[in-house]
Amino acid sequence: GEPIMSARAVRKSFGPTQALDGADLDLHPGQVVAVMGPSGSGKSTLLHCMAGIILPDDGSVTYQGRELSTMDDSARSALRRNEFGFVFQFGQLVPELTCVENVALPLRLAGMGRKPAEAKATDQLARLEVDDVAEKRPGDVSGGQGQRVAVARSLVTTPKVIFADEPTGALDSLNGERVMRLLVDAAKATSASVVLVTHEPRVAAYSDYEVVVRDGKTRAAVGAA
Ligand code: ADP
Ligand code: ADP
Repeated sequence: GEPIMSARAVRKSFGPTQALDGADLDLHPGQVVAVMGPSGSGKSTLLHCMAGIILPDDGSVTYQGRELSTMDDSARSALRRNEFGFVFQFGQLVPELTCVENVALPLRLAGMGRKPAEAKATDQLARLEVDDVAEKRPGDVSGGQGQRVAVARSLVTTPKVIFADEPTGALDSLNGERVMRLLVDAAKATSASVVLVTHEPRVAAYSDYEVVVRDGKTRAAVGAA
């Protein structure tokens, strides 16, 4: 079948630093792709280009056949809000809001009323097995719980593509594996695709396919599944 997203020959420099020097990636519907490679190799830059957070200097990124660079800023931000979900290393939850309010936030921003949004958020917290922290603030929950709340927030809008940048990077290996299992199960249940940036082979093991970035160039991982 057709990929839901493709990156082709993507180049991106920051001043004198060439972060990406011809990166390619296909993401098929429902597929979890791990983007591996050493620190500074260009993994996050590739994720940011694919998510339309930054624009490449050259090359192309398409989502459902549409070239991101030809969309205007509001079309790209609508795409990020409506079709994409995001999970980062440090959950980036809003400290003043409770966990359930954090998870409800993307729905509230999309115009949903408080009660239905919080009902959906509670349901999503339960799927991530953290509904017990719903009324707590992020500062009062553990790292693993906070990361599961962040995953719940990324899933609550039923995104087509989830961008996860070192989602377990701040967790011990037991909590990291739990978060990965829950993230991958939830993605599979909703047929979401995942771009998973990680430098940890144990985390990448949850993917369907591995790509390695080195010096801004991608290649298939040797012995990838
Ligand atoms: P990775 O995710 O593999 O650690 P990055 O994509 O974050 O790598 O970074 C690739 C290279 O680009 C690094 O040399 C990094 O310092 C540089 N870089 C990334 N983002 C910026 C930025 N906003 N400004 C300047 N340099 C950047
Ligand atoms: P609804 O159609 O009620 O809005 P969703 O769009 O949230 O439901 O979810 C679509 C399907 O995916 C449903 O079958 C739901 O049970 C399942 N689902 C949603 N989120 C998760 C999750 N985090 N883990 C497992 N299954 C999920």
